[in-house]
Amino acid sequence: MSELGVGRPTKRRAGSAVGGLPVADSRPVLDGDAVLGSRCTLCRYASAQRNLPWCPVCYGELEPARFPRTGRTWSSTVVAIPVGTRKPPFGLAYVDLDDGPRVLVHLDKPAVLELGARVQISGTDDGDLVAGAEVQR
Ligand SMILES: [Zn+2]
Repeated sequence: MSELGVGRPTKRRAGSAVGGLPVADSRPVLDGDAVLGSRCTLCRYASAQRNLPWCPVCYGELEPARFPRTGRTWSSTVVAIPVGTRKPPFGLAYVDLDDGPRVLVHLDKPAVLELGARVQISGTDDGDLVAGAEVQR
């Protein structure tokens, strides 16, 4: 079986790397103990995007924000097909960061997390956030 996506341009990362125009990387960025993003100065809407021109909810002004690496699972699944250079099975989850936006993370284990489970972002892998069940202290 050939590996799908390997050596072929992907929609998300097409751009200067494959000879085309540069494309902005919209994935959340981890900086030390925080996920970078922005927050609306009017309605407090939180986004993991840092380059939005205005608030998508109220058109208000956005300011840079730092969000915690912890949150709760909103959705979770195990992917059973290869995607890009990722080999199955691997876990994905949407996580609602504490007082922050919802972000897509790769799970450190190929398992479905319970909805509402506490998770902690542990780092990045190839630019994607990686998270696992929060360690109890
Ligand atoms: Zn707003």
